Amino acid sequence: MTTAVLNSQQRRGLLFIVSAPSGAGKTTLVRRLTASLDNINVSVSHTTRPQRARETDGVDYFFVDAEKFRSMVAADRFLEHAQVFDHHYGTAEATVESALNNGHDVILEIDWQGAQQVRRRISDTISIFIAPPSYDSLVQRLHDRGREDEQTIARRLAEAVDELSHYHEYDYLIINDDLEQAVADLCTIVTAARLRSECRRPALDEFIQGLIAQARQIQ
Ligand code: 5GP
Repeated sequence: MTTAVLNSQQRRGLLFIVSAPSGAGKTTLVRRLTASLDNINVSVSHTTRPQRARETDGVDYFFVDAEKFRSMVAADRFLEHAQVFDHHYGTAEATVESALNNGHDVILEIDWQGAQQVRRRISDTISIFIAPPSYDSLVQRLHDRGREDEQTIARRLAEAVDELSHYHEYDYLIINDDLEQAVADLCTIVTAARLRSECRRPALDEFIQGLIAQARQIQ
């Protein structure tokens, strides 16, 4: 069996959860990760929050009204859902499951409440918490984004405290001080999780047993 055959053999994808307080740089980090590694996509959530100027429906989020969101909850279509700030956010289960079943790794960019729900439903998630290097940098980044008023920023800072207090529930913590280092750390976590999961693939067992058998013949 060659490595080309091994690579083409189906594996179930891995499920990564990334959480961070607003302004910690989560979206930038995740974008850099998906640009650097193949076969990993960010799940597009549904939200009742209004669409922002530079956002695209179906790309950044599926923007839905409260009634549609409620009907999805009632139909049990969410893997997890939560209220963050004044809006509802949820991850549609079918899309995530289908990506995983097709061998693609998936990233959920969700808050700590959603992370708790996913961990309860799926045992082998890999969760990563991203923290800012300092309180000042958090405030600075929220201001730099320039898309929220002072009142909203104050609210987001209060929510950040809530989010930060859950960091210990995650498998990994990245402090986003040096962006390049943080990207490298995130890629390392994903790569290590992939290598670890390879050990449990039946196709790999066959491959290694084949190597052992060949080596024994020569001895
Ligand atoms: P924003 O409105 O700034 O895009 O996101 C606000 C917060 O909602 C972020 O902390 C983000 O992680 C969280 N969020 C986005 N999508 C989901 C989701 O599908 N589920 C949950 N639980 N949180 C989400």
